[in-house]
Amino acid sequence: MEIDINTLLRPHLVVLKPYSSARDEYTGKSGVFLDANENPYGSITTENFNRYPDPYQLALKERISAIKGVHSDQLFLGNGSDEAIDLLFRAFCRPGVDQAILLPPTYGMYEVSAAINDVETIKVPLTLNFQLDTNAILEWMTPTSKLLFICSPNNPSGNNIHREDILSLIAQFPGLVIVDEAYIDFSGEPSFTTELQNYPNLIVIQTFSKAWGLASLRLGMAFASPEIIGILNKIKPPYNISGLTQQKVLEALGDISPMERMTRDILQERKFLEQELASLSLVEKIYPSNANFLLIKVKAAKKTYDDLVHEKIIVRDRSKVLLCDECLRITVGTRAENETLLRALKKINR
Ligand SMILES: *Cc1c(COP(=O)(O)O)cnc(C)c1O
Repeated sequence: MEIDINTLLRPHLVVLKPYSSARDEYTGKSGVFLDANENPYGSITTENFNRYPDPYQLALKERISAIKGVHSDQLFLGNGSDEAIDLLFRAFCRPGVDQAILLPPTYGMYEVSAAINDVETIKVPLTLNFQLDTNAILEWMTPTSKLLFICSPNNPSGNNIHREDILSLIAQFPGLVIVDEAYIDFSGEPSFTTELQNYPNLIVIQTFSKAWGLASLRLGMAFASPEIIGILNKIKPPYNISGLTQQKVLEALGDISPMERMTRDILQERKFLEQELASLSLVEKIYPSNANFLLIKVKAAKKTYDDLVHEKIIVRDRSKVLLCDECLRITVGTRAENETLLRALKKINR
């Protein structure tokens, strides 16, 4: 499908003149910097943080794009992927006019971000086995449906969404399709970033918060056409990624083997947890997972949740969520944590 990004973009942004930061106007590295009202002496901390960071995170992007095999002008970095999600609403959805299509049960931030931006959502439930109801999505979309969010592996169900279904929707949806791959590293599936060349309306979102173990640093990625990335760069807060985050992540990406090792360990632990949970009579169903968590159906979700909290074990009660009656979402922990959980469940079970 031919799409013109400028017709999807909110009209006032076509002519927006973005903030020009001191670091935009002079990009040289050395000199006497008296342009940004920074503290010339240093910081109150032992390490210095007195200079504004690179607003476009060029060094970090170069490294990430090499790892991901995507050109750096197809990469946007956000203060968590939640920032990218918010910026997409702000860029493409006119409040009270446009809509986003959501596929519940799914990640809660899409709905919250839509609501914050006063954007209506159209909800088309996943099928009973948490796959796309492609026909229903195509039936429900309207000329003002600007964004379609597909989460794969899906949170909270944990499963991969069938690739052919996603491709078919990207090809037929007249707006932008966001494929949220927060859990891709656990999935055994190739990323949709390989499809960016074929689909100008595709946006892939990933995060450093899960497999990379960097949730506290707040760093998310959006991959899309240079045109869409340009729009996100134009409307983002100038210094959205802190210098500390840029520095720490760049250092860490020198050797990605710890991430690969932890991911392998988590997958092994997921298998262990799955096997052990299956033997508990309290557990009625364990949904197949391609992520670092398990959705399980139990006899009495709310009570089980409360009993676990009493044992100081916190899981996520998803029992009020569509298609997730009596379900708990459990993050895969270390072996010791998983054993603690299993012991508690056996105690509750009695
Ligand atoms: C955890 C998660 C994210 C990550 O958000 P960050 O803001 O990058 O921490 C994004 N999408 C989904 C579906 C998630 O579960």
